[in-house]
Amino acid sequence: MSVTPLMPVYPRCGFRPVRGEHCHLIGEDGRRYLDFASGIAVNILGHSHGGLIEAIQKQAATLMHVSNLYGSPQGERLAQRLVDLTFADTVFFTNSGAEAVECAIKVARSYHSAVGNDHKHELITFTEAFHGRTMGTISASSQEKMHKGFLPLLPGFKYLPFGDLVAAQAAVGPNTAGFLIEPIQGEGGIKVPTDAFLQGLRALCDEHDLLLVLDEVQSGVARTGTFYAHEQFGITPDILASAKGLGGGFPMGACLATEKAARGMIAGTHGSTYGGNPLAMAASEAVLDAVANEDFLANVRATSAKLVGRLEQFIGNYPEMFELVRGRGLLLGLKMKVEVRPFVAHLRDNHQLLTVSAVDQTVRILPPLVIDDSHIDEFMEKLSAGAASFTPAEVA
Ligand SMILES: *Cc1c(COP(=O)(O)O)cnc(C)c1O
Repeated sequence: MSVTPLMPVYPRCGFRPVRGEHCHLIGEDGRRYLDFASGIAVNILGHSHGGLIEAIQKQAATLMHVSNLYGSPQGERLAQRLVDLTFADTVFFTNSGAEAVECAIKVARSYHSAVGNDHKHELITFTEAFHGRTMGTISASSQEKMHKGFLPLLPGFKYLPFGDLVAAQAAVGPNTAGFLIEPIQGEGGIKVPTDAFLQGLRALCDEHDLLLVLDEVQSGVARTGTFYAHEQFGITPDILASAKGLGGGFPMGACLATEKAARGMIAGTHGSTYGGNPLAMAASEAVLDAVANEDFLANVRATSAKLVGRLEQFIGNYPEMFELVRGRGLLLGLKMKVEVRPFVAHLRDNHQLLTVSAVDQTVRILPPLVIDDSHIDEFMEKLSAGAASFTPAEVA
């Protein structure tokens, strides 16, 4: 076992990146890797993006941190941009995705409490969801491997099969507060629900005064070719958690809500020492400067169409290894018929290509949103070479 002072909660691989250059990462040993993982959907502008670096450097030299006891021109500016871009009326800034989901859970509970329905505390969530690693967010996930050793869980969550509207209808009861769902599951294997499913949840919320809480930590901020993924399903949420791409690599997140849903979040009900600090606000503004416009979003969709076309053609050559391509925009999954982890490791170690595995034997393809044709070519070359040189342990 290698000796490391890091708590060994991650099965870390041998690749040790020390530098980033646009869509590539360079290891301690000087080797260059094509990064189609983006720190798991974080580095949407790639590495070493000029505008993002400049914004952080400038803000770091001006004002890095102040308390939330003071007024925040930086926070107000970014929050107003998010409000203008979305369904939301109000924003709470966090430092991570799990914290954004935690805030979303608190907003949902506090709404029902504020309208005199303290008993409506239960959020319905879905199988193979991933919402983070805090006690609240692991409790919101049905995945038992995340619970083991950490019991008891936070009460107030009920798990249903992802995509099953009939089960959702039947599960709504007197204690239901709403639904918490990723509009496209990320860790769960890039699962895209039908429009009818998400629209059905929205209708149930409207009918029973429930809240639709979307976790767009992975699917948000231009990743799927719209600013948030839910826009493609013809719904709006009441509450939304955002992070990952929102800081482009700077750790930050946000909980967005309508004025109605946030009515319980009054002075003293929530807080964060670092959330909304000027440095994070500057980083996120630089990200939005780049991605929050129709040209950029249209380019993500066009790039996606090219990449998906190439992938679909490619998997036809390996029908025994690959089943299908799924996802939206540049949130893509390649479902395999063989064990996915050894293949992801093979691509990394033998072809210097970085992807991420997910459940349901899915290779996640999450490139920076700024890739061009040359990166697609390089990706397809490495993937093809990787498939040709791979010996699966078991072929289904
Ligand atoms: C990554 C992720 C989270 C957790 O974000 P952290 O920043 O790691 O806390 C929550 N929800 C979804 C859908 C995610 O992909």
